[in-house]
This record gives sequence, C-alpha cells and structure tokens, in this order.
Amino acid sequence: MMALLFGPPGVGKGTQADMLSRQYGFTNLSTGDLLRNEASQDTSLGKKITHYLNQGLLVPDEIICDVVEKYVSARTDQHILFDGFPRTLTQAKNLDTILQEFGRSLQVALELHLSEEEVVSRLINRRYCPQCGRIYNLLTNPPRKKNTCDGCQTELTKRTDDNEEVIRKRLHIYDQETRPLVKYYQESGIYHKIDAHGFKEEIFKKISKIIDAHINKE
Ligand code: AMP
Repeated sequence: MMALLFGPPGVGKGTQADMLSRQYGFTNLSTGDLLRNEASQDTSLGKKITHYLNQGLLVPDEIICDVVEKYVSARTDQHILFDGFPRTLTQAKNLDTILQEFGRSLQVALELHLSEEEVVSRLINRRYCPQCGRIYNLLTNPPRKKNTCDGCQTELTKRTDDNEEVIRKRLHIYDQETRPLVKYYQESGIYHKIDAHGFKEEIFKKISKIIDAHINKE
C-alpha cells in the first residue's frame, strides 16, 4: 500500500507516521527528517538546504523530487508512507509519475486538520530527542524528567524552525502551496480529512479505520 499524510506543521504527522509504521509495517519517508539529516552534513547541498529550513521555506521541488525518486526506486516491494511529501501540486504530480514508473499508485491521502492557534501552541511547545527522534510536547506529552528523553535520557532540543515568526511563515506557505492538494486528491478519489484535535491514540484510531478499509478491499 502507498499512503501519504499531509497537514500544517505541528499537526502530528510524525507521531502518527511512527504509530502507523509500527502497526502496519509501513516504511516511512519523512522528507523533513531526510532534509534535516542532509543539512547536518558539511556539504554544499547541506548548506543550501539549511538556508531553506531555517527560513521556514520549502526546499525547491527539483531537489526534493530527486530524493523521493531515489527512495522509491530502492523500495519497490515495500508499503510506503509519505510524511510531509508532497507539499506542492508539482510534487504531487511528480509523485504520481514516479509511482507509475514502478507500476504503483497511491491508495490513501490523509489530511490532518487543526486550527492555526492550536498549531502555533503545539509547535512552540514541541521538543525532540536528537538521539532517537522521539517527539514531545511540554503541554500535552511532556517527558517524565524535565527536558530529558524518556527513552534514551538524552537532553531534548527545540527545532530551529519552531519559533513563532518562522511558524507563521510556514503556515502561510502551507495555505498557499500545500492546501491545493486537497482538491487534487479529492478529484482522484483518495482524499480523507482527519480532525487532529485530541489524544494521539484517538487520531490514530480514525486513521486506522481508513487504512483497514483499504487493506480489506485489496
Ligand atoms: P517537517 O519536518 O515536515 O515539518 O519539514 C521541515 C522543513 O523541511 C519544512 O519547513 C521545509 O523547509 C522542508 N521540507 C520538508 N518536506 C518538504 C517538501 N516535501 N518540499 C519542500 N520542503 C520540504
């Protein structure tokens, strides 16, 4: 199965993607994680990507589509969950073309939905573990010990793009660039909207229902 998650930053895509991969055996492609990893390398591509990430801007379509094509071509027999890709109509069309090349297609496009104020509050309070990648929220999902990862005891970090000015910019870009995907996937008949308020388990249940329905159809 091929599925994707989209929604504004901070809506909980990464958390749901982790839960989905554990439950259904998806291989997750988080373009944000891939880019952060590339940005941490001292290469010219890494430096270029850092600029976009710190400004809250989208990385150009050519760079990201290349990365995705390589990823898909190395995993032609796996169930893939795209997390944070596509983010523009061009990327969505490219993804369809890439999948077609390998005789595959998307079955499910899930949009996670939250109000803007909730998104801002979640992002300002988001922390992550730089060692194991676990995500926390100081208000809704705090670590047991202050600022320390429950799993590996590493000190938690704040993403550099999780500050209010950059967050507002990322939300604006989401409205302009990513929201048109709703219509695109509605037209292809694979769109599902999920209310992302509430506990992660409740949201996961709603998503699972949709995935289960597709698995039963196959
Ligand atoms: P995320 O971790 O999904 O919030 O992504 C963090 C940042 O990575 C975004 O603000 C963008 O700068 C960049 N990024 C991630 N995915 C994409 C994509 N599909 N297209 C362009 N830029 C992306």
